[in-house]
Amino acid sequence: MGVAAVLVLFLASFAASAEASALHLKGGVVVNADQETLADLLIDNGKVLEVGPPGSLMAPDAEVIDASGKYIMPGGIDTHTHLDSLFMGQNTPDDFFSGQAAALAGGTTCHLDMVMPQKGGDILGGYARYREAAKRSVMDYSFHIVITHWNDQVEEAMGKLVEQGLQSFKFFMAYKGKLQVSDELLAHAFRRCRQLGAIPLVHAENGDAIDKEQQRLIKAGITGPEGHQLSRPPIVEEEATFRAVMFANLANVPLFVVHVMSRGAMEVIAKARTAGQRVIGETLASAIGLNQSLIWSSDFTTASKFVMSPPIRTEEHRLAVRAGLAGGALQLVATDHCGWTSAQKALGRESFLKMPNGVNGIEERMHVAWQQLINSGLASPSRFVEVTSTAAAKVFNLYPQKGVIQAGADADVILLDPNAEHTISASSHHSKGDINIFEGNKIRGKVVMTISQGKVVWDGSSLHVQRGAGRFLPRPAFGDLYKGLDERDAIRSAEMYPYGPVPVKRDLAALHAKQEL
Ligand SMILES: [Zn+2]
Repeated sequence: MGVAAVLVLFLASFAASAEASALHLKGGVVVNADQETLADLLIDNGKVLEVGPPGSLMAPDAEVIDASGKYIMPGGIDTHTHLDSLFMGQNTPDDFFSGQAAALAGGTTCHLDMVMPQKGGDILGGYARYREAAKRSVMDYSFHIVITHWNDQVEEAMGKLVEQGLQSFKFFMAYKGKLQVSDELLAHAFRRCRQLGAIPLVHAENGDAIDKEQQRLIKAGITGPEGHQLSRPPIVEEEATFRAVMFANLANVPLFVVHVMSRGAMEVIAKARTAGQRVIGETLASAIGLNQSLIWSSDFTTASKFVMSPPIRTEEHRLAVRAGLAGGALQLVATDHCGWTSAQKALGRESFLKMPNGVNGIEERMHVAWQQLINSGLASPSRFVEVTSTAAAKVFNLYPQKGVIQAGADADVILLDPNAEHTISASSHHSKGDINIFEGNKIRGKVVMTISQGKVVWDGSSLHVQRGAGRFLPRPAFGDLYKGLDERDAIRSAEMYPYGPVPVKRDLAALHAKQEL
């Protein structure tokens, strides 16, 4: 992080909370997922008060913000982050303060973080630790709960968590011997999710196959970051995606597949959706913005910073996934932000098995998505809003509090100047990691203002955030994806069990009598 950025964060963390005045945004193009219109916007008390034609709104006391020539859009929602997390024996450099400050500087105003399990598998205790860590928050947030084992206590804990406003549980199909769950667990857990109205999330890679590949590669002397790449080819992602889709179909539960990185996995999801199954595909800024070429760099620091799971793929996969996101085969784009320092990455110097997996993105996502979707001509600003904000709000039951600009919604709003150019760099980013996978990427289109809870928290060059201002967002179960599922049960059941799920009557007494003769 640059010195200037450090200073801004430092000052901001001690700044007294200023009374927010009402804001009057004038003459911008308000973009929602369904349309864009030239409009003015009034914000007060943390909420959008009114949206109206230019010049139609009266608010003499409000602070006027000239939005002409800019897009006014809902703040981004990142559905997949790891802040203040312990993973592969390392603590992520970003906590809820630095990670969220970085997010706000990049136009993301809300995120869902992964609650990783505590040692010993105490789920509720693990969740309590994250709630404590999130007290440093500067923007709104919620959580997904990672489940790694199964027993009556886990089932009970899931119920308690749903009552507390958590409606999504994550399952790893990879990381054998650590986080990986069995098919049996998936079968149990998906049925439990269905009962609770919760959404199961899967990290879809075949951990058993990867484990064997890793051993084979290490034995063959391939120990660098390219070994990580080679041990997780696209087919292990595709196979696990298919398996998760199948288990979800069996339980008739909606499914959310995190970090879709490859064409095959995307096609599995698209096919299931075409057949009427409720599967949501999340891809990442790294998947649509980068290919794997630099992982083959002879410079260790360069190569190591791209190590993540599933891996960043070839250019062919990048283009396919990007087009799928624009066209609707995939539903939204997140980050899996789990940025490490170059020193932490260097722990994998002798073996890629010891290298912390993960990359940055919480600050870069909106810009990378804009560059890749809008400047490429693949999508409209409305589709951009859909995949960076609205779809996330709908899936995770935050809509219309989040994900839309309309009267009554939370005033999480960004101003994007489509003509401003900038270059992404670790020297100017706000995340605590000293490396950036998008280093040197030139972007046309810049978030020049971020408004969170009705306050200007990013003015295009500095942050004005307040520690503790972020709020936990409870999310009720049985959201949009559950509507009509019971009716689907009947149709699906008729297709899946054409002879009916009823026992066949047989005269066993007669059979016994015959055998006794
Ligand atoms: Zn993740």
